[in-house]
Amino acid sequence: MTTKPRARRPRKSAADAPSASGRAAPKYDPVGSSPYEQPTIRRPRRARMAATALAPAGTRSAANVGVRGVEIVQVIQALDNRVRLIAGKPTIVRVYLDPATVAASTLVTGEITWRRANGGAFYLAAMNRVKLDPAGTPDLMGQRFDVAESLNFVLPADALGAGSIELRLDHLNVPGGEKLPLAAQPAMIANFVAAPVLRIRAIGLRYRSTNAPTATITPGAIHFDYLRSYLTRAYPVAALEWSQIVIDGDRLRPPFGSNQSILVNAQLSALRMREISSGMDPRAHYYGLVDNEAGKSFMRGSALYDEATTIFGAVACGPCGVPNGWTGDSDASFADWYGAHELGHTFQRRHPGFPTFDPVQGTGQPRDNLETTFPYAGGLISSPAQEFVGFDFGDPALGLQMRALPGNIHHDVMTYADSQWLSAYTYEAIHDRLVHEDTALAPPNA
Ligand SMILES: [Zn+2]
Repeated sequence: MTTKPRARRPRKSAADAPSASGRAAPKYDPVGSSPYEQPTIRRPRRARMAATALAPAGTRSAANVGVRGVEIVQVIQALDNRVRLIAGKPTIVRVYLDPATVAASTLVTGEITWRRANGGAFYLAAMNRVKLDPAGTPDLMGQRFDVAESLNFVLPADALGAGSIELRLDHLNVPGGEKLPLAAQPAMIANFVAAPVLRIRAIGLRYRSTNAPTATITPGAIHFDYLRSYLTRAYPVAALEWSQIVIDGDRLRPPFGSNQSILVNAQLSALRMREISSGMDPRAHYYGLVDNEAGKSFMRGSALYDEATTIFGAVACGPCGVPNGWTGDSDASFADWYGAHELGHTFQRRHPGFPTFDPVQGTGQPRDNLETTFPYAGGLISSPAQEFVGFDFGDPALGLQMRALPGNIHHDVMTYADSQWLSAYTYEAIHDRLVHEDTALAPPNA
């Protein structure tokens, strides 16, 4: 890509093209319009020195700011950007700057350009500013582990369509001030691939409490919301086809025995068959939620499994409730990662065997004999070299912050270990299964 011309700014006539922030600028109607409503299409600020020296003097004479690496991230990524990018899925470009090239602590922000094929380039401003400090900025691993230590660019929806875009770090500057010296940066190619939608029918199962016989226990809306959000954020899809209902659980009575989830799956299977015969998409996976009655009635989850064919069905169920710190989870629901695990089974994912099973204590996870290729020691989402780092966009509606997920403490969702996320291994495998089901199980006239 070395022969590509330098990116140009969009021409001024393109007032309805996305602005630098990725939003469409308002159209300017010269007739009957207040002059105050004119769109700002001029670049808002040229980098320049303020009257009082804004930048530490050292930054002006320093060598070019170095770039340690750039990751284009959706769920999990490596520095060589080998993990598939799904078209339409929220995407962040993380730039890791080398603090050795500034003489003193300096706030830095900047812009990238992105362009599709031979189209015009769009400027995109960073969503944050980073403090580049020769004494305080962590090493590359530390930068990847902390979303506040990378310069972050959220790609606009226009950039996420199927196909390739070219990205380039254009410049760095002190916020509102002068540009920092930066060598011309190489272009990167981000290739977005369309993925099937994830079809989930979430079924809340109601039951009568034995602790308080007049009470009916029903999963709250928050648990559905957390599961839906987590699947949207962590699964290899850009979109969910989601529906939810609450029904009475057949033979669902606490205290729950060890086969309770098998009974629930039988009910869900029958429901799924009936609904598919009356028009439900046969690619829909069904997931049952059973509230844990504030910890008093815990139903262990499971997925439908055919021992003879060694194939999982498209039906699973699990508990929901408030985790109170269980497995490192302190938000309002554990239905999210628990459900993502059980649904992972319905996409033919198996137990990799972490934490190591202890047959005496009965703790840990027995490894599924058919799971022979899980790549990471300890069930983590990365090798010890930290080739992979996870990333969670968060969900403002649920108060969940955007954060990086260090690969040395986060475990694959198919383990029983704490702090779960999808490893690249599980991410790619679920994607492959979704692609398979999308055609193999498609309704005959769809
Ligand atoms: Zn499992």
